[in-house]
Amino acid sequence: MSAYLIDGKAIANTIQDELVVEVQALKETHGLVPGLATVLVGDNVASQTYVRMKRKRCADVGIYSVGHELSKEATQEEVEALVRSLNADPAIHGILVQLPLPRHLDEEAVLSTVALQKDVDGFHPVNIGRLAMKGRDPLFAPATPSGIIELLDRVGAPIEGKQAVVLGRSNIVGLPVSMLLLKRNATITICHSRTQDLPAVTRQADILIAAVGRTEMVKRDWVKPGVVVIDVGINRVDDPEAKRGYRLVGDVAFDEVAEVASWITPVPGGVGPMTIAMLLKNTVTAAKRVAGLL
Ligand code: NDP
Repeated sequence: MSAYLIDGKAIANTIQDELVVEVQALKETHGLVPGLATVLVGDNVASQTYVRMKRKRCADVGIYSVGHELSKEATQEEVEALVRSLNADPAIHGILVQLPLPRHLDEEAVLSTVALQKDVDGFHPVNIGRLAMKGRDPLFAPATPSGIIELLDRVGAPIEGKQAVVLGRSNIVGLPVSMLLLKRNATITICHSRTQDLPAVTRQADILIAAVGRTEMVKRDWVKPGVVVIDVGINRVDDPEAKRGYRLVGDVAFDEVAEVASWITPVPGGVGPMTIAMLLKNTVTAAKRVAGLL
């Protein structure tokens, strides 16, 4: 392997350590305790795990968190009423509605109910709209895309003027990370399932973001030497030797691409750990804004 490893776990730990200090100072100097409310609707096991992890990490850095759980039969009005009550709660600076919501609920309407200044997940349509507009900035950007930019910044990989190719155009990763890269003056190509001759496109990339959910799709001959590779994909492959019977791999054939890349994220341990770190960071930012410290 000739590429340098972008150690997302270590970078996320550093961010967490920085937040511990910041949260402590907010308490001591301003009597301010950042607060995050999570809203979980239904009994999706993966969502329950994500919410638990997020609340545990809040506790680790000294952020107050409160978890709200509604049954899978909850009505639109019940969910929106809960969000409105959290909007009005001064101890809560950030509201996280765990997605996906059960199918009978109108997700966009729920996300629109979150107060803009508490939208620490960055999914309020106004924040997304601002993300997409020149000369405007969202109050918060979604956590995984922000984490990708943070990784590039923390290893000193330049963005401005670079050719960035993003594989995937989802609302949670591909599209918002493209907008963030554009705001940082990269030249963007967004690819998706209808893109013709993907390898010819990805070979143009100085920065390649892979967020498609296809096991090891990006091969060595898909990239040019020196590319910076951020692998967002999380795919399970059967592995009888692994404790759980499977292991996680990314959208990039790590071993072969690492031979030619300059920087590369591993899976796991790359983008994954950054998502919660950025959510915590957004929550602290939200609290500082309320206190007039930003
Ligand atoms: P989606 O399924 O919502 O989007 C996948 C995107 O990839 C779509 O835009 C799709 O195109 C495109 N795509 C699918 N197959 C191909 C293909 N063969 N060639 C080119 N493009 C293709 O996924 P997400 O964005 O939610 O997630 C992507 C990956 O990132 C997943 O593995 C997910 O688990 C992981 N992830 C990791 C996170 C983390 O680390 N914290 C957070 C979120 C996601 P089209 O639009 O045309 O359908």
